[in-house]
Amino acid sequence: MYTYQEMLSVLNSGGYRLTDQRLSLLRVLETFGGSFSALDFEKKASEMEPSIGRATLFRAIDLFLERGILEKIHRQSGDDVYIVGSKGHHHHIICRVCGEIRDIDACPFERELEEVIRKEGFSSTIHRIEIEGICESCQIRGTEGNYGPIA
Ligand SMILES: [Zn+2]
Ligand SMILES: [Zn+2]
Repeated sequence: MYTYQEMLSVLNSGGYRLTDQRLSLLRVLETFGGSFSALDFEKKASEMEPSIGRATLFRAIDLFLERGILEKIHRQSGDDVYIVGSKGHHHHIICRVCGEIRDIDACPFERELEEVIRKEGFSSTIHRIEIEGICESCQIRGTEGNYGPIA
């Protein structure tokens, strides 16, 4: 996950104006360890920076998403969540029980996908693939009967 300084330099390199409000929102983002909802972000932002209005916040979210400072992750079972972005091409694996999200830095799909795509005659492709599973600690808890058998 990007640190505050890295988020700053991503914004800087895009030539975006670093308003005080945007800087404060980066400070808010820095406090999240894992995934969070738009509502979590809104709540924390209004605690830490009461002067930031909803419209400003949502414009900033759009900008952060566009720059990859924030990443939106679609969960099969519910609402989309956000996490602070990371450098380079990567994927996410999401625990479908507890919602924990981890980055996978190596791309396991590149070669096979490229082959298929080249056959289709496409170039300059990008891909977004999200993987859901059950994390180790949820598997352990699962055997204690809390979540029943893993289907
Ligand atoms: Zn889990
Ligand atoms: Zn990939």
